[in-house]
Amino acid sequence: MQRLVVLGAGESGVGTAILGKQKKYQVFVSDNGQIEDKYKNVLEHFEIEWEEGGHTEEKILNATLVMKSPGIPDKVPLIQKLLKSKIPVISEIEFAAQYTDATLIGITGSNGKTTTTMLTQHVLQGGGLNSGMAGNIGDSFAKMVAEEDYDNYVLEISSFQLDGIVDFRPQIAIITNITPDHLDRYEYQFENYVASKFRIAMNQGVDDYLIYDADDPVIIQGIQQHSVQSKLVPFSVQTELKEGAWLENNEIIINVEHKNLKMSTDYLALDGQHNVKNAMAATLASLLVNVRKETLRQSIESFQGVPHRLEKVLKINHVEYINDSKATNVNATYYALEGIKKPIVWIVGGVDKGNDYSALMPLVREKVKAIICLGMDNTKLKETFGNAIDLMVETFSMEEAVKVAYKVSERGDSVLLSPACASFDLFENYEDRGNQFKESIRKL
Ligand code: ADP
Repeated sequence: MQRLVVLGAGESGVGTAILGKQKKYQVFVSDNGQIEDKYKNVLEHFEIEWEEGGHTEEKILNATLVMKSPGIPDKVPLIQKLLKSKIPVISEIEFAAQYTDATLIGITGSNGKTTTTMLTQHVLQGGGLNSGMAGNIGDSFAKMVAEEDYDNYVLEISSFQLDGIVDFRPQIAIITNITPDHLDRYEYQFENYVASKFRIAMNQGVDDYLIYDADDPVIIQGIQQHSVQSKLVPFSVQTELKEGAWLENNEIIINVEHKNLKMSTDYLALDGQHNVKNAMAATLASLLVNVRKETLRQSIESFQGVPHRLEKVLKINHVEYINDSKATNVNATYYALEGIKKPIVWIVGGVDKGNDYSALMPLVREKVKAIICLGMDNTKLKETFGNAIDLMVETFSMEEAVKVAYKVSERGDSVLLSPACASFDLFENYEDRGNQFKESIRKL
């Protein structure tokens, strides 16, 4: 019997275990930490053997195949041992994809994955397509393959998932952009991270499509370096193209595989240039799977966005409060500062992943009237922006940060939480940070 060992019993691990069991593997799930009760119950229900609080090597090194959760880095000794023993270590999307004939739309990039994935799914469903959404969002892909029967999947795919693929081949791939992130997992080499993102096109053939941001020099260079075979479908907000998607005045123009479409940007419910790009990517993918133009336009217009991504919370005394807690890197924050047209009171900080803030300096000088630091260690922020800004305050809880923001803001300002950092110093995760922001505002 083939033995499938699943390392990490989170959403992707448990999904893989379910699918593995269904496909007649002998399945063993091992988690170094504690497994959440809801997952334990699922494993029990499917009669899958599991352990927590450590890894029993004898039960792992006899695997035919190992699925490693995306959170586990390669450098962990157990993974090194498996690799030395030539036991294949793959990711959930690799495992699951072999058991479905559905059309796969795979979406990766440093920022915009979730927004583009949800928007694409919204458009596909609006067009009446039978489509499942998975990956880093909601239920795992593996679980859906085991339990549902979709014709299309829209998959949000992180670089860690891509590191574990062998044959995974989406018919449509999207790379939204590539900017430095997660470099701790890539030996601090940007090119390793770029290579990881390009794995999404690694198995694509000449009939598959790669949709990408043509304004991103890293992607343009990457396409050449990684000998991509796919049909190239660029989008741009800077240059008028002949094929793909681009802007003419206020209109998005689409031309892909002899399908043409025009759409005014005024109708997009989401603000900001980056959301024009996300809309372009989602529209291109949707046309390629034959969503009709009429429903497509309607769906793009009716999409209301995703919580914690430039989410408008409330207006108090003519000051708008915006929650962009998901901005966990500098590039995401760049687009937030760029998109907001009013004077900004900016709440920033957290766990810095080796941030270089210099790209933000022109926007900060132009638009930011006060900076409220919110992190355990704000040294770098103080050093970078201390001299550029008149008012800089350090705070150590969300409630305090919001109170200060309330005090220093004036009619017509925006208070923006866009931390450019991870949240783990003061919060459980970015959702917790965003929710605390919203609660603190409601208490004002
Ligand atoms: P991801 O899933 O890749 O983290 P999200 O859609 O959750 O992406 O957005 C993360 C952050 O990046 C948010 O602050 C959002 O406003 C911003 N963002 C969204 N789309 C883009 C884009 N195309 N380019 C840059 N930033 C973006």
